[in-house]
Amino acid sequence: ATMPPLLAAIANAGRHGVLVKSAVVMEQLGTTTRVAFDKTGTLTRGVPHLAEIRAVPGYTDQQVLAAAAAVEHPSEHPLAAAVVRAARDRGIPVRPVDWFSAQPGRGVSARLDAELVQVGAPTALLPSCATGPDFAAARAAAEQLADSGQTAVVVLVEHHPVGVLGITDQLRPDARGAVAAVADLTGQLPVLLTGDNPHAARRLADQVGIPDVHAGLLPEGKVTAVQKLERAGERVAIVGDGINDAPALAAAHAGIAMGGAGSDLTLQTADAVVVRDELTAVPAVIALSRRARRVVS
Ligand code: ADP
Ligand code: MG
Repeated sequence: ATMPPLLAAIANAGRHGVLVKSAVVMEQLGTTTRVAFDKTGTLTRGVPHLAEIRAVPGYTDQQVLAAAAAVEHPSEHPLAAAVVRAARDRGIPVRPVDWFSAQPGRGVSARLDAELVQVGAPTALLPSCATGPDFAAARAAAEQLADSGQTAVVVLVEHHPVGVLGITDQLRPDARGAVAAVADLTGQLPVLLTGDNPHAARRLADQVGIPDVHAGLLPEGKVTAVQKLERAGERVAIVGDGINDAPALAAAHAGIAMGGAGSDLTLQTADAVVVRDELTAVPAVIALSRRARRVVS
C-alpha cells in the first residue's frame, strides 16, 4: 500500500532531521509566505564566546567575571554558558548564589554574598542605575562593544555598574544558504527578530543577506512583530531556539524550534523541531510540504 502523501512527507522531513508534529502542520508549512529567524542560537551557532571584559575603574576584570559567572550559572541562556566557561577557563571559581531569577530578553539576577547582582542587556539594566562616572564609563563601554558588533552585557552590583562583557557568536555555516533557499521558495527575503542590540543584529543580517531587521525585542516584541506581519496578510513561519522566543513560536502560523539548545517548553510549543543541527532543513521541509500538497489536491 502507498503511504498518504502528508505522512510520506513527515517521514521524509524526519530524514532531513525535522520532527513535524502532525499532518496538519505538515500541510500548513507549505503555505508559508514569510520566514522570520531569531538570531542567537538560530542564525548563530548559539555557542557564544566571551571576547572582552571592560571593568569600571576601581574594579578588576576578575571581580567582574566572578560576579557575572556566579549569577549566570543557573541560567540556560547561551550567553550565560559563555560567561561561565570564560570564568572556568581563567581558573575563577564559580560561587553558588542564594536566589536566582531570569527576566527573558533582559538578563538574570541573583544574590551573591547578600548583594544583588544583575547581568543583562544595557538597555534593560542601565536605566535603573544612578548616573555618575561609573554609569558613564559602563554606558560608553557598552556602546563601543555594540558598535564593534558584539553583544554587550552589563554587570551591576546593588544597582551599581561594575563592568561590561563583550560576547561574540559564530554564524552557522549554512545560515546564508538557508536564507537564500527560503527567499527562493517564498519569493521574499526572511526577516530577523532579535533581542540583541541593533548593531550586532545589523552586522549579522548583512552577513547572511537579510535586509529587514527588528532588534532590541523582548519576547512580547517578537510576538507583536509576527502578528504585524500576519495582519498584513503574511503566513509567518518563525524559526527560533526557544530561549526567549517561545511565545512567538506559539503565536505564529508555524513555529519551528532549533532542537539543540531549546528548553522542554519550546519543544512542546513548537509545531516542528529541527533535531539535526542544520538550518537548511527549514527550506527543505517547506518544499516537502508544498510537494505533498500538490499531490493531495
Ligand atoms: P536573541 O533574540 O538574539 O535570541 P535573547 O532574546 O535571548 O536574544 O536575549 C536578548 C538580550 O537579553 C541579550 O542580547 C542580552 O543582552 C540579554 N540577556 C538575556 N538573557 C541573558 C543572560 N542570561 N545573560 C546576559 N544577558 C542576557
Ligand atoms: Mg534566541
